[in-house]
Amino acid sequence: MNRTILISGASIAGPSLAYWLTRYGFKVTVVEKASHLRGGGYPIDIRGTARDVVERMGLMARLRRLHVDTRRITFLDTDGSVLTSLRPEAVTGGAEGLDLEVRRGDLADCLYGLVGDKAEFLFGDSIAALDDRGGHVEVTFDSGARRAFDLVIGADGLHSNTRGLAFGPEERYHRYLGFCFAVFTLPNELGLEHEAVLWNTPGRAAALYAQESGDRVYGFLTFAQDEPPFAAFRIPRAQRDLVAATFPDTVWEIPRMVAAMREAGDLFFDIVSQIHMPAWSTGRVALVGDAAYATSFMSGQGSSVSLVGAYVLAGELATHRSDHAAAFAAYEKTIRGFVERNQALATEGGSALAPRTRRHLDARNAMLRGDTALRTRAEGRSAVTSLDLPDYEHALGS
Ligand SMILES: Cc1cc2nc3c(=O)[nH]c(=O)nc-3n(C[C@H](O)[C@H](O)[C@H](O)COP(=O)(O)OP(=O)(O)OC[C@H]3O[C@@H](n4cnc5c(N)ncnc54)[C@H](O)[C@@H]3O)c2cc1C
Repeated sequence: MNRTILISGASIAGPSLAYWLTRYGFKVTVVEKASHLRGGGYPIDIRGTARDVVERMGLMARLRRLHVDTRRITFLDTDGSVLTSLRPEAVTGGAEGLDLEVRRGDLADCLYGLVGDKAEFLFGDSIAALDDRGGHVEVTFDSGARRAFDLVIGADGLHSNTRGLAFGPEERYHRYLGFCFAVFTLPNELGLEHEAVLWNTPGRAAALYAQESGDRVYGFLTFAQDEPPFAAFRIPRAQRDLVAATFPDTVWEIPRMVAAMREAGDLFFDIVSQIHMPAWSTGRVALVGDAAYATSFMSGQGSSVSLVGAYVLAGELATHRSDHAAAFAAYEKTIRGFVERNQALATEGGSALAPRTRRHLDARNAMLRGDTALRTRAEGRSAVTSLDLPDYEHALGS
């Protein structure tokens, strides 16, 4: 009988999984590299099936209060003139009035609030080594502590430590989508409120995003790049130089954004990539969320997929308590198709948010002008991202 479970990572997938596992009577430990729960952060959407999951967690009322409520997206032409303004649902495929948009940190905080006193949390530590002995897993932590667990689950994100230890290097599973992005905050000089403004030229996008009426906004600079700029990852200055050199434009707010990016204390620079793995478990170790199947921010579905993945993994472990191999197989069988459909949205989403060529940009703009075509496409998108959620009520209290 599997009883003790170690989860690596306390963001979205980790605490969700911990919540469901403790409800099903497992003894859960969560190890998080950061010294405390990481707050703040960019807004994420909770859509479709993931809404059912947070409803089942009893979080809906609280998340509604935290809803960021983006009211419009304004698209700009390459010369900075306005193409059109739309409700965000017309682009994202969400349902007006039904989607939830919250800060990633607020969602993590809500999830932690559900389980912080029911699971053991080890902040400021990380798994240094894993030894799957067949009947249990021996874990050595960075702190030097050594403990045994029945199962270990990696929920430690795109650059997962658990994946590296149990499945091998990230290069094997990593799929670069051909874009880089920089996110940072800057003064809200345009007085934006609950809205985003997006400027495009082929292969490049610049956006300002105001979650509410405040004196700061998020700036996003996204650009196509054939090869990932690995050298720039090691040198923060080189990241800023690369982004600045890619945006020499003198239109709209670009010069001010580039200047702010150069000075930003909160700059986050990364490549847009996904994780594709032939299997999400090996022996007594499995992965969930971005660690297993990152969909990339261009899909807009990463947190939703993580919430659904954690719910299903916990439900299957509770259903197959003495047979983790059967549980892991059922977890994959239930959501692999759903995950793949969501991953497929990223290239589509990428082409809507940052069309790569003049032809793609012109086609996107034509769709924006004829709002209906875009809406139909968005509705199709919403349909492929939903899943008939299994019910694991039978496992409660067992
Ligand atoms: C700019 C941006 C915008 C996005 N927008 C959206 C959106 O609109 N909608 C959406 O659904 N998704 C969006 N996403 C994606 C979303 O944030 C992720 O898909 C989601 O957070 C995945 O959750 P996770 O828990 O699997 O991983 P993460 O949120 O990456 O969390 C991993 C956790 O593991 C911890 N960790 C890392 N290494 C270790 C270690 N060695 N030991 C212990 N702990 C470790 C980290 O500190 C972190 O707490 C966006 C992402 C970005 C970057």
